[in-house]
Formats: sequence, C-alpha cells, structure tokens
Amino acid sequence: MNVLVINAGSSSLKYQLFNMDNKAVLAKGLCERIGIDGRLTHTNPNKEEKYKADVPMKDHADAIRAVINILIDKEWGVIESMSEIDAVGHRVVHGGEYFADSVLINDEVIKAIEACVPLAPLHNTANLIGISACKDVMGENIPQVAVFDTAFHQTMPPEHYMYALPYEYYEKYKIRRYGFHGTSHKYVSQQASEMLGIPIENLRLVTCHLGNGSSIAAIKGGKSMDTSMGFTPLAGLPMGTRAGNIDPAIISFLCDHEHKEADEIIDILNKKSGMLGISGVSSDFRDLDTAIEEGNPRAKLAKDMFNLSVKKIIGSYIAEMGGVDAIVFTAGVGENDRSVRWDVCEHMEYLGIKIDPEKNKFRGRQMDISIDYARVRVLVIPTNEELVIAEDTERLVNEAK
Ligand code: ADP
Repeated sequence: MNVLVINAGSSSLKYQLFNMDNKAVLAKGLCERIGIDGRLTHTNPNKEEKYKADVPMKDHADAIRAVINILIDKEWGVIESMSEIDAVGHRVVHGGEYFADSVLINDEVIKAIEACVPLAPLHNTANLIGISACKDVMGENIPQVAVFDTAFHQTMPPEHYMYALPYEYYEKYKIRRYGFHGTSHKYVSQQASEMLGIPIENLRLVTCHLGNGSSIAAIKGGKSMDTSMGFTPLAGLPMGTRAGNIDPAIISFLCDHEHKEADEIIDILNKKSGMLGISGVSSDFRDLDTAIEEGNPRAKLAKDMFNLSVKKIIGSYIAEMGGVDAIVFTAGVGENDRSVRWDVCEHMEYLGIKIDPEKNKFRGRQMDISIDYARVRVLVIPTNEELVIAEDTERLVNEAK
C-alpha cells in the first residue's frame, strides 16, 4: 500500500509518500508560499539533487495538484499515476476530547475537527483545508485518515489534565491540558520498548521531544500520564521562541505597561520569547552554541534555563510515576545536542541516571548513551512522526476493508 502523508500549515504543505510494504519513503517534499506565489521542493531518494521550482499555488488544492504532478513526473516522479496512491494520512493538530486515536475521515469527523478549531485556530483550519484539498483533487474514493497530535495524551487522568480554574470553564469551553507531539511521544516510547526488549506495559518512560517546539511526557505502561504542553503548545518548557510556563499575571502587567492588547502579548510569548528572547541571538540551539563559545552570557543563560526546565520536569515525572526505567531524547535538539543531554542528566546519579560521555558524542541515531551499570537507561531515538501517520493510515484503511 502506498500512503501519502500530508502535514498542511497555513501557507505550507509537507508531504511524504511511503511504500508500506517495506516502509520506504518513495519521495518527499515541501510546498511553500501557498496563496502568495508558490514554491515546490521535492526529493526523490534516487537522485542526488533536489527539484526546486516556482509553481503557482493560489490555494492548497493547487499545492496538492503540484505534489501529484511531481510524484507522477517522468523525470522526478516515483509513480506512474495518481491511482498508485492508496490512501492519504493527515497530521491534524487538535482533536480535543473527541479523538483518543487516529480515525478514518468522514463528514462526522470533519465536523469534530471543525469543533476543535477554537482550540487551535491556525493549525486546525490549515489541516481542514489540506483535507478538503485532497478530496477535491483526488476524489472521494481515496480513503483519508486524520492523526492527531493530542490523541496519545487522552489517557491522562483528570488530576493531570485539569487546571485549577472554576470548574465551569472546563464544562463550558473544555479548558484543560491537552498536550501535543503525541505522535512523536508514542513512536519513541514504542521504539524504546523494542530497544530495551521490555514490553511497553512494564515500562515507565520520560520522553523528551526537544526541538524548535519542545514537550516532555510521562509514559507509564505505554500510556501518556502527564505532559508539559497544555491547553495550547505555548505551555511547559521555554522553547525556540516560546516562553513556556510563566506567571499568568505577567500578561495583564505587560498589557498595562507596554500599552498592548492581551493578543499582542500572547504573540510575543509565542514568537519573541524563549531562547530567542533571552539570548537576543537566535532561537536555534546551534547559533546559541556558537554565541556561547564566543562568550555571550545571555546565550548561556538561555540554554541554562532550558536545561534546568527539562531537568525539573523529568524529576517531577519520575516522582509521579514512582520511578523511571528510561529517559528518551528525541527531535532536533534531543537527537543532536549532546550538551543539552549532558547538562540535563548531570547530578542525577542518585536516581540511577548517568550518561557515558563517550557514547554521548554520537548524534542523530538510535543509541543507548547511559554508562553500562546505570539502573536507568538514557536513550537517543530519532523521531519519525510521518511513519506513525502512514502506519495508522494503513491500519485504519485495512480495518475498514
Ligand atoms: P520542529 O519543532 O520545528 O520540528 P526540530 O525537531 O526539527 O524542530 O528541531 C529543530 C531545532 O533542532 C533547531 O532549531 C535547532 O535548534 C536544533 N538542532 C538541529 N540540529 C542541531 C545540532 N546539530 N545541534 C544542536 N541543535 C540542533
């Protein structure tokens, strides 16, 4: 079965075509500047160079058409015709309390995704546009599946997901912790179980998805028990440009003193805070490292704050689960940045956590980096959210047959 995985943003659309017989990526790429002018970057693994071209894309349907055209292109394509695409899997950011698993898309599902738009206006709207664009271009007969960032965390018990606000706000508006990056946390937890040769039902894991956006999850017996992102992906750790947890009273203070609306302050918390806000240099951890080497104290402060936040959350999740068997690092920073891994795990020997500095030098591949005798394993596991989307799509399409 060939599965096309789509991750639609407001002006961009990422795609990967999988052959599920061997889980190989046949091709992948990115449409950008949708609604502005349109640019396509396409990778065919059999070619050394990437295909890059300006392709007019007035909307997402044009982008999907451009994707299909390049996938069936004589020179750059990997399939003969659109009929070789058996199903489409969509990343959908917010499934609210409606979805605890991926789902085959029908009219009812579309309505539920629409009902979650107020919870993630930019993301869910873009995801819905991606779904309807696929339907328009590919027709009704190709099954489409939605895979939600929030679904994996729906197993959290209420004492973990409720905010201590008047209860009516939960009832009226469904204000609660949802958590995100669920597809990634699920994938790396399953990989960890395979790596360790221990059934997931018997494992207590802390999975650290540290990238441009970052979140941590406590996963007990394969189920998400707690996670650091909240009602929105702004909560939890300080991130590339996001503030993470702050005292909420700061928002009204800044509104008064900076003469701004709450929305504008939230925008600053989303786009101008975190590593960028503290360092004044960049949101990218590689740039922070360069600045730290040059002696920039604010870049060092930003990274120290990040590492401390990760450590604090790991500690609290170990307390919640009554122990831990493995800590997993994944995503751009978790997979590549050895100094983050080292600093986060330093002085945790008393919990049975100790990284081997030699093993920690490797980056970007699956690896157990703890010292041999450590009670708790520290694992680096590259995430693969697209593969989970493709696998869920294949599973649901087969179940519906
Ligand atoms: P996103 O949340 O956008 O999916 P990623 O998981 O791809 O982000 O992570 C991107 C981030 O990973 C970059 O902003 C950068 O800070 C970090 N990163 C990538 N490669 C390295 C590296 N070699 N060393 C340190 N940090 C890295």
